[in-house]
Amino acid sequence: MITQISSNFYRITSRMPYRLRHVHAYLLAQDKNLALFDTGLNTDGALAALEVDLQSVGLNIRNIRQIYLTHVHTDHCSMAGLLQKMTGAKVSLSAQAFEEYRHYRKADEAVKQARSFYARHGMTPLEIDAIIDEFEDIRGIITEFDADELLEDKQVCKFGSTQFEVISTPGHAGGHLCFFFPREKFLLAGDHILPYIAPSLTPNIFDEDYRPLTTYLKSLGKIENLNCAEIHPGHGNSLSSVNERIAEIRAHHEQRKNYFSRFLNNAPKTARALAQKIFGEDLPDFEKFLALNETFVYLQDLKAEGAISENMEGNVFVYAAL
Ligand SMILES: [Zn+2]
Repeated sequence: MITQISSNFYRITSRMPYRLRHVHAYLLAQDKNLALFDTGLNTDGALAALEVDLQSVGLNIRNIRQIYLTHVHTDHCSMAGLLQKMTGAKVSLSAQAFEEYRHYRKADEAVKQARSFYARHGMTPLEIDAIIDEFEDIRGIITEFDADELLEDKQVCKFGSTQFEVISTPGHAGGHLCFFFPREKFLLAGDHILPYIAPSLTPNIFDEDYRPLTTYLKSLGKIENLNCAEIHPGHGNSLSSVNERIAEIRAHHEQRKNYFSRFLNNAPKTARALAQKIFGEDLPDFEKFLALNETFVYLQDLKAEGAISENMEGNVFVYAAL
């Protein structure tokens, strides 16, 4: 589905089988030339649907000259390779996002890293196998692309007569970018700010010192300081109460972190055991993985604040209240 949001801007919505149900890509048309911001999910028929969407507003998929990616999660980037091959479009993203993409293409390394990371946080080999299967499925969907340009924070890009600024907003994903259009005063936010849910935060399995929550909250601050009138997110409706939404997301994390900390006492627990106490035992495999990720994110911050201890017992990390 394609919706015109201003004279030369369009939102392209595609359905997806995951819990968020749909994802938005955005399109800037400059005469015949097109720049696509994110690509949607590479499902059967997605490319044909995009072609039909563009035709319905008199645009041609073959005129996509540029693809800008907010981050390399499947639902945002998995058609980049297909489109690049078909149209010769240039692909631009952050260096860190490209690095992440390359990590996941080197399957053996990512699998090895994921196994050791989740084992150290108390997951069983069977649970880890289930996560690896998910990783493999996801990896298969992302079509291979080349990066033509690595975007940097505050870089000003120009497409035709439209200028926009790159804003580095790590947190939801390590190399996440937003794109700010100062004249129109709107922000293409990817998954940095969403209207209904707080964007998920995940550990970096290649860097255990990376603190997703602290990093994310700092990146929220960057948007608070923009003169931004409207946010066009990767999922859900556009929103205009930008700073109110940011305050809500901050409050959500504060509340959640406090809630998680209440489950810790002086008996050391693994992140997995804590997640099980908080989320229950009977979760599907993928939900277990999400529960552990969320738990780990808050534990990382509580540890950095000096509220809890982290120790290695045997081969697993355990956490206790201080
Ligand atoms: Zn995402």
